[in-house]
Amino acid sequence: MPSGTVRVGAHDDDMHDRARRIAWLDFPAIEKARVLVVGAGAIGNETLKNLALAGYRNITIVDMDHIVKSNLSRCVLFTEMDAGERRLKAEVAAERLRAMAPGVNAIAHTSKIQEMPDTFIRDHDIVLGCLDNLETRLHVNAHCYAAKVPYIDAATDGFVGKVLAVSPPGACLECGTNRTHSKIVQMRFSCTGADVSFHAPKMAAEITTTSVVSAVQVREALKFTSGKREAVMSNMFYYDGLRNVSDVLEVPLNPACPNHPPS
Ligand SMILES: [Zn+2]
Repeated sequence: MPSGTVRVGAHDDDMHDRARRIAWLDFPAIEKARVLVVGAGAIGNETLKNLALAGYRNITIVDMDHIVKSNLSRCVLFTEMDAGERRLKAEVAAERLRAMAPGVNAIAHTSKIQEMPDTFIRDHDIVLGCLDNLETRLHVNAHCYAAKVPYIDAATDGFVGKVLAVSPPGACLECGTNRTHSKIVQMRFSCTGADVSFHAPKMAAEITTTSVVSAVQVREALKFTSGKREAVMSNMFYYDGLRNVSDVLEVPLNPACPNHPPS
């Protein structure tokens, strides 16, 4: 075939051909970016699937939990057999991503994010929080902010979902956390200073809200990675699926927030 001639059907041989037609997506940057996903539960499953299909290749997953049957209604990457064998979420998710999108280098860590080395977060270009507890979300938020790594936090509660895009020097998750939430987190450490067992009630969750917030989270990641920072939402996406309402709200920077020391 003469050079410069495109074989019929050649475009269909490239998994990402249709997305490459979107002018603002920077595919070389997406393929090179090192993305960290903290949490491989419901939101984590959707987000990991979206990242791999969107073209991200270097994906690190942190989650210490085992798969249980009640996860399966919201987790596209897990099967009943995984739950039966109580396999680790991070390991199974990494395995399934590699099968789903050839070329994906998915690495699983099965310890707490708080136990990872100090340099761990700054070894990534962007961090996506897919966590169901505020304490860990605030930990990741603070460490990303200090390392100047963009952080996109996603959370759901029943039919309500939120996504917050955090990028220094703007407001962070802690700026947008109300005092009641902060007090609950502080109570855990107030008596002895040591970590204690704490069983929060299980949150209501269903897949349609999870899908919406995950889609927004990964799309904002694509903007960061593609150098379209001016297009990144400023800075919270709020979604209420029961009232059919969605909006972008601006979280103001709180001068008393510990993540913004006076310069
Ligand atoms: Zn803050």
